Amino acid sequence: MSHAAHELPPAEPAAASKGTIRVLQLYPRDMNIYGDWGNALVLAQRLRWHGYTPELLEYDVGDEFPADVDLIVGGGGQDSGQLVIQDDLLSRASALKQLAEDGTPMLVICGLYQLFGKFFKTRTGSVIPGIGVLDIETHGTDERLIGNVTVSSVEFGSILGYENHSGQTSLGPGVEPLGTTAKGTGNNSSDGQEGARYKNIVASYLHGSLLPKNPALADFLIRTAAERKFGSFTPGTPDDRFAALAREHAARRPR
Ligand code: GLN
Repeated sequence: MSHAAHELPPAEPAAASKGTIRVLQLYPRDMNIYGDWGNALVLAQRLRWHGYTPELLEYDVGDEFPADVDLIVGGGGQDSGQLVIQDDLLSRASALKQLAEDGTPMLVICGLYQLFGKFFKTRTGSVIPGIGVLDIETHGTDERLIGNVTVSSVEFGSILGYENHSGQTSLGPGVEPLGTTAKGTGNNSSDGQEGARYKNIVASYLHGSLLPKNPALADFLIRTAAERKFGSFTPGTPDDRFAALAREHAARRPR
């Protein structure tokens, strides 16, 4: 068999980049469970598809906080991981608050969602103070909320993911819910709400990772980052075939 059949077509000349978007992952060493790191990978790939150059940065306990960050993501963690980062996170509270108030797009999942709020009182009674960016509070319970989740959101359509947490979160008047749960529990076992929205922050209990199955959320973060940095966003042509398959599959999963 000739080699020719396997040869790749000549590379297309690279289009000029529309610019660089700096994506910062908060505490990937300690806060990164159920594939949350995949959220940063999706943002990088979709940025490329939209014609932008992604720059992925990481911030862990004790690091220097990078300047000129355009988009922030943070994942979930065990209660023990949350205890490891708590002091460092508090020392960054005013910088993160400033970025949030200025409209920096952010995605915070589960453990960091809780710590972007006022506090997380764990099941064993330790109070982990949060940075108060979000008007929420969280109380650990003996009931773990585990399983697949479908959220109905006016802003983003249906959002699919997976939850596993002991903390139950209640929202104050300063935030809106991300949506309501059609399957699964979400913020707590009483009000049928999931996640929170404030400024350009999307906060959610959903892992999976979340963004591979929810490109509308990824593109909201990217569009917001591009508009803030360059004044406008011109979309490219993402290949959403795998996202569509993943959504179909996830929607069929039992609770
Ligand atoms: N440790 C927290 C809880 O159990 C967060 C868990 C998570 O990030 N999945 O509520």
